[in-house]
Amino acid sequence: MAEGMLRRDPLNKIWVIFTPEKVKTLISGSSENEAKFDVDPFVPGVESATGPDILRHNDPLYAVGGWSSRVFPAKNPILRVENDKNGKGYGLYDSMSRLGAHEVVVETPKSGIGLDQLSVEEIADGIKIIFDRIADLRKDTRFRYISVIKSRGAAAGGTINHNYSEIKAYPFIPPFVRNKLDNCLEYYRMKERCLICDIIDQELSDRKRIVEEHDNFVAICPYASRFPFEMTVLPKKHGRILSDNPVSAINDFAKILRSVAVKLKNGLNSPAYNMVFNYLPVNSGGDAEAESLAYHWHLEIIPRISVITADSLENGIFVNPTLPEDAAEFLRNIRE
Ligand SMILES: [Zn+2]
Repeated sequence: MAEGMLRRDPLNKIWVIFTPEKVKTLISGSSENEAKFDVDPFVPGVESATGPDILRHNDPLYAVGGWSSRVFPAKNPILRVENDKNGKGYGLYDSMSRLGAHEVVVETPKSGIGLDQLSVEEIADGIKIIFDRIADLRKDTRFRYISVIKSRGAAAGGTINHNYSEIKAYPFIPPFVRNKLDNCLEYYRMKERCLICDIIDQELSDRKRIVEEHDNFVAICPYASRFPFEMTVLPKKHGRILSDNPVSAINDFAKILRSVAVKLKNGLNSPAYNMVFNYLPVNSGGDAEAESLAYHWHLEIIPRISVITADSLENGIFVNPTLPEDAAEFLRNIRE
């Protein structure tokens, strides 16, 4: 079988990750995949099936079988920490090996339940373990971006009915993140202010698109939401990554995540959804001080209730049947 690798598309300026070892599973069809996940492999007692833990939290209030949350390497990783970068040029093409990290965070020992069924303290424990892993991975100077994504439900790419996230460390900056960072830097150079701080100020003053507001965080439906009921959770205080905010803010962040999950469940009939963290890249090669002042971390929440069209994927064109003001008003009124 051909070796996997990363190849750069010079026309679109994107890196594509090739994983030829996965082609067999793809061809064998979904029925076999579904059968494989009848049993939850993330519950206490079957830890040996998922490999040795990188990190384990043991909050005595919520621990079962010696852990309240745990992180381990993905069983079929798309990137590997032991690989060398091995960058190569071939005519006008570039490639490198699958250097990076791919980890799974099981945020609770409890099977089959969503964020809405966990307590704020349990959610906070899951956030803290992610926070610890990001801090560790950011020290590896070979990485450029640490991605954290939660995929809940099959339509969102979730494969197991358990509250978990995936952390991936990439040796390049993802194009959407690069674009956002460039836009924030351009705004900062022009105004010497953070674009996202200014967006928060305007949203807090307009109040039309606010879904939920807590002391340290606000959840909004973005002004130009791409997807119906899309939300962004923003820390009110400027920071590159979650650890720039005070530790006490973690509980507030857990509180707002729980509220949002309740709204998804009770308002939108428990849709599949993705939560995507947007952090400042590491070792970008740019002006680190300007980037820290210009970029402001946030979390995007995308309910997967509409089909992502070819126009969205290929042309970046989005058609949204819901005005964000209406979506925010609807979600604001949904309570537990
Ligand atoms: Zn800011």
